Amino acid sequence: MKFGNPLAAALVITAATVLIVSYALRQPDSALLVIIVYIATIIFLSIIVYFISKIYSKHKSSVDPEDFIEICEDLNTEIAIWSDDFSLIIMNKKLRDLIGIDYEKYDKKEALFTAFGLKKENGEDIQQFIKSPSYESSFKNPNGTVSIAWSTSLVKKRKKRSVFLSTGFNLTELKKMKNNLASANDFFKSSMELAEIGLLMSSDKKKFVASPEAVKMLGIKNSTIDVSVLRSMIHPNDRIHFERAVKYVDASGSVNSIEMQIKNSGGSSYRWYNFRYKSIKGTANTAPLFGGALIDVTQEHEKDILIERLAYIDEVTEIANRNKLMATGQELYDTCNVLSHSYWIIVLDIDRFHIVNDTCGYENGNYILKNFAHILYKFVTPGGIAARISGDNFALILKDYGDDDLPSRTARSIQEEFAKLAVDDFEAITLSCSAGFSKMPSDGNSFLDVMEHAEFALKSANGSQSTIIGYEPSMHDSIIGRNELEKALALAIDNNELQLFYQPKIDLRTGKIMGVEALIRWIKPDGTVIKPDSFVPVAESSHLIGKISEFVLNEGCRQNKLWQKMGYPNIVMSINFTSTDFYQADLKEKVLEALAKSKLDAKWLEVELTETLALSDIDFAVSQMNKLRELGVKLAMDDFGTGYSSLSYLQILPITLLKLDRSFITDIQHDNIAFEIVSAVIRIAKSKKIETIAEGIENKEQEEILRQAQCDYGQGYLYGKPMPAEKMNEFFEENAKITANISDNPN
Ligand code: C2E
Ligand code: MG
Ligand code: MG
Repeated sequence: MKFGNPLAAALVITAATVLIVSYALRQPDSALLVIIVYIATIIFLSIIVYFISKIYSKHKSSVDPEDFIEICEDLNTEIAIWSDDFSLIIMNKKLRDLIGIDYEKYDKKEALFTAFGLKKENGEDIQQFIKSPSYESSFKNPNGTVSIAWSTSLVKKRKKRSVFLSTGFNLTELKKMKNNLASANDFFKSSMELAEIGLLMSSDKKKFVASPEAVKMLGIKNSTIDVSVLRSMIHPNDRIHFERAVKYVDASGSVNSIEMQIKNSGGSSYRWYNFRYKSIKGTANTAPLFGGALIDVTQEHEKDILIERLAYIDEVTEIANRNKLMATGQELYDTCNVLSHSYWIIVLDIDRFHIVNDTCGYENGNYILKNFAHILYKFVTPGGIAARISGDNFALILKDYGDDDLPSRTARSIQEEFAKLAVDDFEAITLSCSAGFSKMPSDGNSFLDVMEHAEFALKSANGSQSTIIGYEPSMHDSIIGRNELEKALALAIDNNELQLFYQPKIDLRTGKIMGVEALIRWIKPDGTVIKPDSFVPVAESSHLIGKISEFVLNEGCRQNKLWQKMGYPNIVMSINFTSTDFYQADLKEKVLEALAKSKLDAKWLEVELTETLALSDIDFAVSQMNKLRELGVKLAMDDFGTGYSSLSYLQILPITLLKLDRSFITDIQHDNIAFEIVSAVIRIAKSKKIETIAEGIENKEQEEILRQAQCDYGQGYLYGKPMPAEKMNEFFEENAKITANISDNPN
């Protein structure tokens, strides 16, 4: 062939292009490839058109048109040769197959218009088509919609008609790929939006390109952000992490992550973000890349903070709770041996807090706890901690600098501050607290050990107020006994091992029984009788007293009513109240309930209170006493003479009976001073219309002196020791007999 060389070149280029394109089509995951394929297509079409037109025009004389048509026929691209008057239309096999027509039977002009996607005989459109250097058509065939990019050139111009050569490139697959890529891109974008993931990418680590979601998160105006601006938006504490992440290139290429707080540009508060980042090293052809995904984790962080708060912060006082104290305490304990440090642990207890709480209400109780915590907090020094252990128990850990007076001094200052705290409407209440302290690591083998020893020291004060006591190893044994006693007593209450004994009270003028005092006993299963002095104080400090007193009140009322029903003379049942019982806000209701339950008339019930108890809060005591008096319940002042011994209180307290303490009676027959005091007290009491009773009468001599001194009643071993109810039945009968004899023979 004369034109063999250029045509061969065209065919080679065509074949090469077709190869590239078909290869590209098999790799549908890159938008770049789509672009390459487009460009290649255009180049390819231009080359084909160029060569074919050259062949057709320059060598037309030497080319056999049949040969030419044959060449076109076999070319693996769509080719159409046509004249603008449509007298000549040649379409190669590739194009015919694509249109899906039987070429012989089909109207050629219609086939051409279909191939070009034009309306038949539309002159304007064909002009448009010719003018356009590349034109895209689409038409439907049995397999779907086909898209073809056309390149057309004029190969022959005559007066009447011109001949054009159109070479096509099938874009159908490319279009599909592009659509797929577009939807993949959309999918990617929406996924990012849905997952609320922002992307930040940088090739030079100076400027970052932010994805739309990252733009939204950071509140920036455009998608490029300077690294210095980004840095300034990060919380100062977290900048170091970010800087390290940017600078450090992880050679392993693995994904790392940091958490940092970022303030939205123009925003006022920080949000927490997780930044998962990766560095990609540059190669000879590619720039290095640094980028990562930003995920807002503020909510998770808030949850973590909340969990930590719930786990470690006391709800009422907002200082550390027991968990936190134990964790920090043990950490400090562990450092002691390593760093040769030592710490003081001060355990504090608000005196009579349960009374304050009952009296003033829970709101005021909480107010006191909060303020106490606040005071403690002021005494915390670096490395230490203030915490609420439970109820009204608090702890303070202070670093020791060799000053042994530090814990006592600090506790005293806390007491002073606390005493200044005023509770609205309860001015009469003076707040005080007690403290026990120990030192770690010397006072125990663990933090818990040391803290328990501080608690031992505190308990060793035995309920006294405003005490400050340091731990000594000798305390240990007695406290252990006490703790055990407390546990055993709790069990004893549940197992009904508590029982009331009754000690008669005698009218000194008639010798008749006028009352009994209910005295509690703990009778162990083996029959051992434990006296109240051994367990009532423990009960009071451990709040078991509430249960005990409830039992005494109800059982005393029930027994007295039973004796009445049994026909024994009406007598007064006296019960003993501790300060915890007496200062209860619902004291009146409880007493009323016991009376109602037993159907005992209030005048046959008497409550014994000690001086110390009544005077610890005199205003409140008077108000409580008046409440009981309103019910008709009698009030006795127990152990009179052992406490403050001020007779002036008799003016204020609405008592009905005064019990002279046993200490005055024991030696009254020899001790003149005791006799004078007793006589004077009886006189004054009488003037106030208060009856008197002497405790601990053990012999007739004492009885006689007291009768002479005009004491109304007597109680003591002379008449009877405390005894169980059944024994009292016998006593009643015996007493009735004796007194009947006395009345029969008054001399
Ligand atoms: P108290 O109320 O002063 O009770 C009188 C105590 O003196 C009783 O001791 C009684 O047995 C004892 N006693 C009576 N007569 C004589 C006597 O002639 N000579 C001697 N040496 N002692 C005599 P008890 O029963 O051991 O009670 C001791 C304290 O325990 C009571 O003192 C009272 O304060 C308290 N207590 C007793 N029972 C109860 C109770 O049910 N509740 C409360 N809160 N305290 C109670
Ligand atoms: Mg008593
Ligand atoms: Mg007494």
